[in-house]
Amino acid sequence: MIEMQDVWKTYPNGNAAIQGINVKIDRNEFVYVVGPSGAGKSTFMKMMYREEKPTKGQIFVNGFNLAKLKQRKIPYIRRNIGVIFQDFRLLPQLTIYENVAFAMEVIEAPKKMIRKRTLEVLDLVKLKHKAQSLPSQLSGGEQQRVSIARAIVNNPSVIIADEPTGNLDPETSIGIMKLLEEINLRGTTIVMATHNKDIVNTFRKRVIAIEGGKIVRDQYRGEYGYED
Ligand code: ADP
Ligand code: ADP
Repeated sequence: MIEMQDVWKTYPNGNAAIQGINVKIDRNEFVYVVGPSGAGKSTFMKMMYREEKPTKGQIFVNGFNLAKLKQRKIPYIRRNIGVIFQDFRLLPQLTIYENVAFAMEVIEAPKKMIRKRTLEVLDLVKLKHKAQSLPSQLSGGEQQRVSIARAIVNNPSVIIADEPTGNLDPETSIGIMKLLEEINLRGTTIVMATHNKDIVNTFRKRVIAIEGGKIVRDQYRGEYGYED
C-alpha cells in the first residue's frame, strides 16, 4: 500500500534530509515513526502526502508513484490520504461543521452527501454537539478530534499524522490514540511520527526509527527506544 524504493531527499540548500530509504507499509498497519529532532521524520512524512518530492527514488501510495505524479493528479491523491498535524490547522473563522464539510466541498462531493457524512464523522469523534462552535471555543483535544474528523471525512485509505499529540496533555493524548486505533480498526492505514515515549510504549505498534535520514530500526510491537 505504501512503498519507498531507494528514496533520497536533499533540500535546495543542500540539507540531505533522507538518505536511501526502503520501506513497505501494508494495508491496515499502524506505524510509529520515531527519532531525534532533525532526523528526517517530517520529510519522510511529507513525501508520503506529496508535500515534498524525493530527489531520487520511487514512492508508491495505493499504486500511484508520487515521485512521478503529474501536478493535476495531486488532488486525487490528497483525497486518499488524510493528514493530521500537531497544531491542528483548523480554519479559525469557520465553524467545526464548516471545517469538516470544507474538505468534502473541495473535492466537489454532492451537497446531500456532505451534510450526511460530516455529521457522521463529527458523531464518531463525539463532537456533534459542538458543530456550530468555532475552533477557538474548543479545548486542544477537541480541536485535534475535529482535525481527525476532517482527515477521515473523505474515507482515505491512509492517515499521516505528524506529532498529533505534541500539544496535548497525557490524558487527552490517550483519548486521541484510542480514536486513531478505532479508525485503524475500521480499515485505515496510519503512519504517525511522534516523540511521545509513553504513548509508543503503551499502545504497542510497529516502530520505524529514523536517524540521519536513514531507517536504523524497524520492529513489530516495538518500543520508543529514546530517553526524551
Ligand atoms: P524531523 O522531523 O525528524 O525533526 P526534518 O525532516 O524536519 O526532521 O528535517 C531533517 C533535516 O532536513 C534537518 O536537517 C532539517 O534542518 C532539514 N530540513 C527540513 N526541512 C527543510 C527545508 N524546507 N529546507 C532545508 N532543510 C530542511
Ligand atoms: P482542556 O482541559 O483540554 O484544556 P479547556 O479547559 O480548554 O479544556 O475546555 C474545557 C471545555 O470548555 C471544553 O469542552 C471546551 O470546548 C470548553 N471551552 C473552552 N473555552 C471555551 C470558550 N472560549 N467558549 C466556549 N467553550 C469553551
